[in-house]
Amino acid sequence: MSDKLVIATAKSGDVRIIAAITTDLVNEGVSVHNCTPTASAALGRLLTAGSLMGATLKSEKDTITLKISGGGEARGVVATSYADAHVKGYIGNPNVELPPNNKGKLDVGGAIGKNGSLTIIRDMGLKEPYVGQVPIYTGEIGDDLAYYFTVSEQTPSAVGLGVLVDTDTSIKAAGGFIIQMMPGADDLIADLITYRLEEIPSITELILKGMTAEQILEFIFEDMDLKILEEMVPRYKCDCSRERVERALVSIGKKDLEEIYNEGKDEEIKCHFCNKDYQFTNEQIGELLKGAYNG
Ligand SMILES: [Zn+2]
Repeated sequence: MSDKLVIATAKSGDVRIIAAITTDLVNEGVSVHNCTPTASAALGRLLTAGSLMGATLKSEKDTITLKISGGGEARGVVATSYADAHVKGYIGNPNVELPPNNKGKLDVGGAIGKNGSLTIIRDMGLKEPYVGQVPIYTGEIGDDLAYYFTVSEQTPSAVGLGVLVDTDTSIKAAGGFIIQMMPGADDLIADLITYRLEEIPSITELILKGMTAEQILEFIFEDMDLKILEEMVPRYKCDCSRERVERALVSIGKKDLEEIYNEGKDEEIKCHFCNKDYQFTNEQIGELLKGAYNG
């Protein structure tokens, strides 16, 4: 099933839902970073979460960055998403590989670790971005994000994120949903949805059955007045460019840039998100220095 993200409501708007199939997106992201299966599951879940949250942004200049770092061998995972549900990300250690957890699943919680926090940075083009942070709850990412929404944004939420890695280490199925109760919604609706979510198979099982994002929502929200509002195609996409790398180089400050220049060597700068190399000759660094600080 090809990737698709849908935004919907249920119960006359009392419930807001974002759901997506992200198999191709996660496949792209984990192959860029050459991830092991455990790393793929961790990065894939955060990329899916990023894509779901990015889809709610109003302006194309806005971004949401999710960072989770719990002291585990994954050494932190980062995802940044945009208004069109595009997302990019990386994992500190793409080679992390742990034995399966006690449920026989890839041990994302173990790889992330529990000694740290989940940070959400909403950059809406204002002077300061809005930063929210919660301690890590399980390190499984979905639970942590639900905890974040409920505690930090006072929006009771259920989050499901799933990445199924195939025997050849490609992604067999990936997807997720965020279900949120709007202010004033009846507690009974939340109970009903919680009960429903406990009953149904995991999102990756539903995707493997060939269900589309809409069909998955119709299945979960049967008889709950589901309305699909918007559809998008989530993608893995890095927006780096030579200009951005130049700006980043200049932003380290005159003194540090001078130091690099005075070493007299060429510099190679790799984009964290897509591994693209940007080459700068010593002469080009000198020109940047001159342009930014002596001009
Ligand atoms: Zn890049």
